[in-house]
Amino acid sequence: MKEPVDHELLKYDREHIWHPYTSMKDPLPVYHVVSAKGVRLTLGDGRKVVDGMSSWWAAIHGYNHPQLNRAIRDQVADMSHVMFGGLTHRPAVELATLLIDITPAPLQKVFFSDSGSVSVEIAIKMAIQYWSALGRGKKQRLLTIRSGYHGDTLGAMSVCDPITGMHHLFRGMVPEQYFADSPRCGYQDEWNEEDIAGMKNLLKDHHQEIAAIILEPIVQGAGGMRFYSPQYVRRVRELCHEFDVLLILDEIATGFGRTGTMFACEKADISPDIMCVGKALTGGYMSLAATLTTQQVSDGISSGETGSFMHGPTFMANPLACSVAIASIRLLISSPWEKRVRAIEKQLERDLHPCQNFPHVHDVRVLGAIGVVELRHPADMARVQERFINRGVWLRPFGRVIYTMPPYIINKKDLGQITGAVIEVVEEEGQP
Ligand SMILES: *Cc1c(COP(=O)(O)O)cnc(C)c1O
Repeated sequence: MKEPVDHELLKYDREHIWHPYTSMKDPLPVYHVVSAKGVRLTLGDGRKVVDGMSSWWAAIHGYNHPQLNRAIRDQVADMSHVMFGGLTHRPAVELATLLIDITPAPLQKVFFSDSGSVSVEIAIKMAIQYWSALGRGKKQRLLTIRSGYHGDTLGAMSVCDPITGMHHLFRGMVPEQYFADSPRCGYQDEWNEEDIAGMKNLLKDHHQEIAAIILEPIVQGAGGMRFYSPQYVRRVRELCHEFDVLLILDEIATGFGRTGTMFACEKADISPDIMCVGKALTGGYMSLAATLTTQQVSDGISSGETGSFMHGPTFMANPLACSVAIASIRLLISSPWEKRVRAIEKQLERDLHPCQNFPHVHDVRVLGAIGVVELRHPADMARVQERFINRGVWLRPFGRVIYTMPPYIINKKDLGQITGAVIEVVEEEGQP
């Protein structure tokens, strides 16, 4: 269905609608998308582009999937939403059952919320309420590593990288937390105990005030697309036990198979006290997140001053979102997802390898269905994005990283189109 470019629509958008991280005075260009199916987005001018982003880690099964569509349609016929205060429903219970089943065994209690950032706020509040209930109300601060990303609300922002997260703009509003250097040992590197020294020293000095360590396990996403050693996560788990600090793992980006295991923490063979999931939870259909925790943490919180956990969003456990999440997880589990992710990994490694030879490329790295080409200098986002569109590919780089995390259902040829475009665009970025 070919339509003329809708200049009116784009003009109105430009004048009135904010997009993520852009200026209203000089906004970056946006493209009009009219539909999406499988791994393709159809643009307003009729062009189709292969999606290399999974709409920010979320659309793992591709778009317009018949089973996910059906789950939403069936649920609409029963009820789209009811409040969760004093009421419950089968979609919430079934989804909780599935989540408890596929996450590490000690995670037994589920709190549903509407977005990843909120699930991180909830995790932080759980940790603080837990220590308060145990009579250790001084333990209110968080410890994390640099280059992290945990969301855009104020509490979540406080544990994002302080530089790229622009903490200085919000001084006084964003709580001050403790930051260790991000791990230097890459995913495959031999472990060096030095790597954990900074974290250990901060714990030694400040554990009396620290409620929890929060980490994106193995893969740091929007803070720089860095991959680090599972041994780092294991050591952090040990230190948390040693210093009486809870461990929060933010699996919002890494969850549901993206790194080759269902959750990235499986690579370190550890289990957190609190875990956040979101993004791919609904297969990219709707906004939904969950914070899971252990019997120990939930018992602690429930024995505190109020006896209750102090949170309760209006759209908590929205039945439509829960239904499509159930369908998405079932679809994932019943699919050969491990084989698919491994095949994507192998092809990304092979196809992106030539980028290593460009002098302006700092690093090429692949883990699971994630491929990253890190340049030595920041890429011009608008120019690079347009060059990808002209090659029939949807990718959106940030800073110095050009990266792809395609839907798991992508075939060899379509992935080849993405990687081919990456090589060409990266090469062009090296030309003056
Ligand atoms: C995207 C993301 C978040 C925030 O999720 P939103 O749904 O955008 O609020 C938090 N943590 C990680 C690791 C993420 O990738």
